[in-house]
Amino acid sequence: MTDQLHEEVRQMLSAYLDGELTQADSQKVRVHLSRCEECRRTHEELARLQEMTRSLEFAQPPEARMKELEKSLSVQAPRRLGWFFILAGIAAWLIYGAGTWVRHWRPPTVEELIASAVVIGFVMLFASVVIERLRQLPHDKYRRIEK
Ligand SMILES: [Zn+2]
Repeated sequence: MTDQLHEEVRQMLSAYLDGELTQADSQKVRVHLSRCEECRRTHEELARLQEMTRSLEFAQPPEARMKELEKSLSVQAPRRLGWFFILAGIAAWLIYGAGTWVRHWRPPTVEELIASAVVIGFVMLFASVVIERLRQLPHDKYRRIEK
């Protein structure tokens, strides 16, 4: 084995790992690797590095997988329950308020004014979410509308 071949192989190792060499060249590298321990070690290190880079890429799930995770029950269930309580609370408050005021009209108490502010806030939040969803709808056919 000559030093020239050794240098040549070292420069081809990266391309060899990527499978970018011609058949003749990769044969040349393979033969040299079996005979030269230094190149074999370099080759192993490069391969390990490439493996690490690849697993790092896999560690970051693509957008589609993130959406899939978001859809999973652990996220959806509490969110649905949250919406249920908000809507149930708003409905109960409206029925209570309407019933009280219809039966005996009086100025609202401080507590009722605070409750009104909370309810109005939630209604506006809810409306903004609905509007946002409706806007997204044409672009995202995979996303279902939550009820
Ligand atoms: Zn070598």
